[in-house]
Formats: sequence, C-alpha cells, structure tokens
Amino acid sequence: MNFEIISVGTELLLGQIVNTNAQDISRMLSELGMNVYYTTVVGDNPNRLKEALALAASRADGVITTGGLGPTGDDLTKETIAEYCGLSCVMHEESRRRLESYFKEKGRYMPKNNLKQAEMPEGCIVLDNDNGTAPGAIVETEKNVFIMLPGPPREMRAMLRDKVRPYLESKTNGVIHSRSLRIFGLGESAVEERLESLMKNLTNPTLAPYAKTGEMELRITASAKDVEAAEEMIAPVEDEIRKELGDFIYAEGENANLQTTVVDLLNQRGLTLTTAESCTGGLVAKKITEVPGSSGCFHCGFVTYSNEKKEELLGVPHDILETYGAVSKETALCMSKGAREAGGADIGIGITGIAGPGGGNPEKPVGLVYLSVCAKDVHKVYRLMLSGSRDVVRERASLYALDAVRRCVLDSLRDDYIW
Ligand code: ATP
Ligand code: MG
Repeated sequence: MNFEIISVGTELLLGQIVNTNAQDISRMLSELGMNVYYTTVVGDNPNRLKEALALAASRADGVITTGGLGPTGDDLTKETIAEYCGLSCVMHEESRRRLESYFKEKGRYMPKNNLKQAEMPEGCIVLDNDNGTAPGAIVETEKNVFIMLPGPPREMRAMLRDKVRPYLESKTNGVIHSRSLRIFGLGESAVEERLESLMKNLTNPTLAPYAKTGEMELRITASAKDVEAAEEMIAPVEDEIRKELGDFIYAEGENANLQTTVVDLLNQRGLTLTTAESCTGGLVAKKITEVPGSSGCFHCGFVTYSNEKKEELLGVPHDILETYGAVSKETALCMSKGAREAGGADIGIGITGIAGPGGGNPEKPVGLVYLSVCAKDVHKVYRLMLSGSRDVVRERASLYALDAVRRCVLDSLRDDYIW
C-alpha cells in the first residue's frame, strides 16, 4: 500500500512548530514496509485542504491526516474529508458520552462547540482518544482509506501506536516483520553501491537504509503470514548483505549500539580497556560506562586536556609534544600506549584533535582528530577528518574510537578510516 501524509495547521506553515507528526507517521509506515511518496503541509484553509486531499487520494491508496479535529471553526479536516467522500457527519453517541465524561472528570464545563468533535463521518471507524478530546477516524472508500488523527503529538502518537498500527497490520493479512543491521565505517552511498543490484530486485522483503550520526542502519522488512515465514524470507537477503558488507556490520537489532557491542566483546574475551581522551573529554568513557556490565572490562579512563597532564599521567614525552604538538600522530600514539600502561589494560585508546569551532589552522584544521589503538601486538594511529559542529565532531570521534576497539578485539583493524 502507498500512503500520503497531510499535516494540517497554519502554525506548521509559519514555522512555529516542527512537523514531528509527519516524522512519527512516516517512521511507522516504513516499519510496516509501506511506501510514503509524498507528504504535504497545508494551512487551516478548506479550499486548499480540499485540493491537497484530492491530489493525495488520486496518487495514493491511503491518506493519513493530522490536525484540524479540534472544536473550533478553523478545524475542518473531518468535514472536508467527509465531503470529499460524499458522506455527512453524524453525532456518534459513544464519543459524545466520552467527551462529556472527559470534561466531567476534569471538573470542567464543556463548551457547546466541543460537541462538534463527536460528529463523525457516517460509517467510519472511530478511534477513541485516550489522551484528549478529539477522536480520530478511519473512512474506507472503494479506492482509498482516509485516516484522521488529532494534531497534539501526545494524542497522535498514542493513537498511531494503539489504533492505527493494529488496523494496518490487520489489512496486510499477516505480519510485517523486520530485522535491522547496524553498520559503522561505510557511508550511505557506499552501502547502496555495494548493495545496488540486490536492492533493485527486492520487493518483499524490502531493504531500506537509514543514515544516523556517523553510522547506518539497514532494515530488511518482510510481509508474510507469520513471523517464522518472514524470518525465512529475510534470512537469504541477510546472508547476501553480510557477504557484501562483512565486518562493517557490527550488530543486529534496532537498539544495538557500538558501546554495547564493544563491552560485550571485551567481556566475552576477558579483555580490559583504558581510554586517554583529549578532544572527546571523556565521551568514550561515558559511552562505555552507559552499558551495564562495563565494570568487567573498564577500570579507568583519563581525560588529559593539557600538555602537562598528558606528560604527567600518560608519560607522553615532553619532546614529542614540543616537536609535533598535542594534536599529532606521535602524541596520539604515546597517549594510547600511556593509557594502556597506566591503566594496566589489554587495550589502550588515545584521542587528540581539534573539535572547533576555534583553534584550527590550515595545517591542522577543525575536525582533525588522531585516534590511536595500542594492544599487545598492535600500535596504530588513524588520521580522521571529521565534519560538523563541535558536538558532532566529538560524537563522531568517540564512535570511531569504539569501532577501533571493536576491530582491535576482532583482529580486523582497518588500514585507514576514509569513507
Ligand atoms: P485541538 O483539539 O487541540 O485543536 P487538532 O486535532 O485540531 O487538535 P491542531 O489544532 O491542528 O489539532 O493542533 C493542535 C496542536 O498540536 C497544535 O497547537 C500544535 O502544537 C500541535 N500540532 C499540530 N500538528 C502538528 C504536527 N504536524 N507536528 C507537531 N505538532 C503538531
Ligand atoms: Mg485545532
């Protein structure tokens, strides 16, 4: 099924609020393996809403709207859709009772025009609103399905999750099931390039890449009669992807992340890690210690911002700092070695760089980060050129460091990190 989303609200057009509803709906539809080809934002204007609706209904099987279900005169979504479908709005007694008791419970007087919210397109499926006053509605016509949801995100989200999703799942005659593969070290286009022929020929399961800060998620989604059958359809596609991407795939599952992968790996192998961080200011240590069970592999980390502390705590030679500077290959190498020794760990990490916005120069620009790994038979340094704001540079640098630890444990350290 193809869907379009119409977000109704002049506030959205004026840039006063962000269209989070469209984002939430798109995400859910993609999880269900359904396509969204267009989303539209339209103000509280009946003529333009009518136009948007007609266009969407002509192109898509389903149209999901948010907003405009309120009690005031400019809330017109329901009426406009009913008119488009040739239906009238009639009082829905149960919704009227719910509305009245909603106000009663809150000890508030119910203005007369609130009753308008209980008038629903005839024959529609009413979606009770457990978090507010406006019920949602589903109207099925021969060609289309129209799903109307309230504007307030809290109400919209709950209705989407509890009412719309089960409704759509019931329409697919089975289940929609997906598996996520998490990827670090390849950009979106590189992933697509490697998977091009595979992706082109897939309809069920489908394959969708999502770019996140510094990493990628690949979601394989199958529609089948039950989960077992879906898994069977997903497996060969997953095999193909693994063949193409190999150890760029660091984990599986929507909630997977690099730090959990790293902590699990270190604990499984009985290895320990010590970090020496400059520009990331302890971000790697923070991420590691977010993971339950990290005390098994992480005993201490250093945040050495000044040159003096790099010398004193990590034993970085004064000469090295003088000759090459704090942001250099040489310093990073000494930091990882120093961290490993001072922490008595199997693996040491050293990170030094220029997060910006100031402090860069043509030779050492903002975003330049040296990352070094030191282990028993390994002493390696990477030169990273990271883009983005201070926060993003720091975040990205910490992800590279985690990936380097992962690869160090797996004995698959990369030669360089350019992608
Ligand atoms: P109400 O009963 O509150 O009038 P409604 O269904 O008519 O609800 P709107 O009037 O369009 O919805 O919007 C209500 C509030 O919800 C807005 O003030 C806005 O803050 C928020 N909202 C509306 N649409 C969106 C959207 N697409 N994304 C995020 N927030 C939204
Ligand atoms: Mg409103």
